[in-house]
Amino acid sequence: MTWVAETLYDEQGFEQRLLVTRELHREKTDFQEIVVAETKGFGRTLFLDGVVQTTERDEFVYHEMITHVPMLAHGDANRVLIIGGGDGGVLREVLRHPVEKAVMVEIDGRVVEECRKFLPSLSDGAFDDPRAELIIADGIKYVAESSDSFDAIIVDSTDPMGPGEVLFTEAFYADCCRLLGDGGVLVTQCGVPFFQSSEVTDSYRRLRPYFSDVGFYLAVVPTYVGGHMTLGWASNAAGLRQVSVDVLSKRFAAAGLQCRYYSPAMHSAAFTLPPFITSLIPEQLDDR
Ligand code: SAM
Repeated sequence: MTWVAETLYDEQGFEQRLLVTRELHREKTDFQEIVVAETKGFGRTLFLDGVVQTTERDEFVYHEMITHVPMLAHGDANRVLIIGGGDGGVLREVLRHPVEKAVMVEIDGRVVEECRKFLPSLSDGAFDDPRAELIIADGIKYVAESSDSFDAIIVDSTDPMGPGEVLFTEAFYADCCRLLGDGGVLVTQCGVPFFQSSEVTDSYRRLRPYFSDVGFYLAVVPTYVGGHMTLGWASNAAGLRQVSVDVLSKRFAAAGLQCRYYSPAMHSAAFTLPPFITSLIPEQLDDR
């Protein structure tokens, strides 16, 4: 057994360690280093370039919140685009809804292959669902070239470095806006503001020119260390962020979802931000 340190916050003098009991796979692809390992505390875990991406034990938090908040707020999302999400957890959760189509654009096919093999519970058969379409491509290239339309776009990317960096750009968000119908919603993985505060500020600045309603909501994912994780929210549909718990409860029941972190009350409460996060949102852009 060896302790493996995640060095994402080296510069901030902070690291988390996981006790690895067995390494299952290690590979350098054209895009990143993939490691899948058995860990004592969190089950099988996927690391990309040394950063924890998802673990069997706490993946439900992130995958439920990045998926069911936009899906139940929208209420009738039939066509969903997932950017990234190589482990298949978001695809699995999207397909729990009666969607017509879920298109997943992942840059690194090796992540999909190794997660299907070593972390099958994440996708849980989702890649074999006839409604799912997996495209191995760079997400920014896909959205730039697509003329398709979607009701929801879920960006389940790595952090804004390496291949994931382009998924935090204004050009990417502009094309996402073009692909979303008027009532559409975009949500993005937006880091842990206690350590990655610029992701909130930068994402807001880059989303706001294209979306009238830009905000953030929270989830607490134990292995995304540093407290709250933020998920970015952007839509041109007024009121989508304020759907009532009563309406969400009806939709949640109709979808027949069983969740361990998501609930209609948690959905609504997740948009309440502590002042230290609200202060990261630049107000001056609000004069559009
Ligand atoms: N839940 C994790 C998180 O919050 O950090 C992300 C998990 S998922 C494994 C991240 C995926 O984004 C990886 O499979 C990676 O290959 C993919 N990715 C990174 N850059 C991409 C890009 N430009 N286009 C499409 N997929 C990308």
